Amino acid sequence: MAGILFIISAPSGSGKSTIVNELRKQVTGIDFSISYTTRAPRGSEEDGREYHFCNRADFERMIAEGAFLEHAEVFGNLYGTARHSLEDARKQGHDLLLDIDVQGAAQVRQKMPEAVSVFVMPPNPKVLRTRLRNRSRAEGQVNEAELYRRLSEASKEIENYTGYTYILVNDILDRAVAQLEAIVRAERYYRNSEPIAVRSRRVLEVAAACRQSN
Ligand code: 5GP
Repeated sequence: MAGILFIISAPSGSGKSTIVNELRKQVTGIDFSISYTTRAPRGSEEDGREYHFCNRADFERMIAEGAFLEHAEVFGNLYGTARHSLEDARKQGHDLLLDIDVQGAAQVRQKMPEAVSVFVMPPNPKVLRTRLRNRSRAEGQVNEAELYRRLSEASKEIENYTGYTYILVNDILDRAVAQLEAIVRAERYYRNSEPIAVRSRRVLEVAAACRQSN
């Protein structure tokens, strides 16, 4: 049976990466797609681990070759999910999780309406502002214009929440991780169970057997 395709998206500052990293520790049988991007590596990021880093010419060649399931420009850089990520996961019988932006998620949903998508929200605007400010501080000096730009990008992304299967509010990290894990397990149970008609028949059979033994 083909694995389940999960999509997770969030405005920056929602804490999505932390939730996804925790999910990796809790759930097996799910692959995490490594995207291609034209942005430069940050901090300790390594080519082939967080992303496949490439230049714009190579990325555009891959677009022309039809190598991407989806691709989008985010904050001036190109990002894309290679079709082979999906094929590799399928060969292994694994589920696949794509951590992609709202534009990419819309493209995937159109091609694969059975995909399960999760939108992670910050609990409120104050927390979002604080997280973005802390991130800017960690990257150097807080630049108010840059902060404003990130906040307005975040609000644009949030306005695109419709179409997602689940909305996850990241107020308490452990709870958000547990909820994401519950989504993965429930979807697996649902997809891997017998069709509803077969299950209903079994339930009726058990009920009839109970009546007879009464
Ligand atoms: P960052 O550069 O901070 O790692 O990621 C910036 C944004 O790009 C995040 O919202 C992330 O989900 C999104 N992103 C990462 N990989 C892909 C991808 O393959 N496709 C699309 N559409 N977005 C991606």
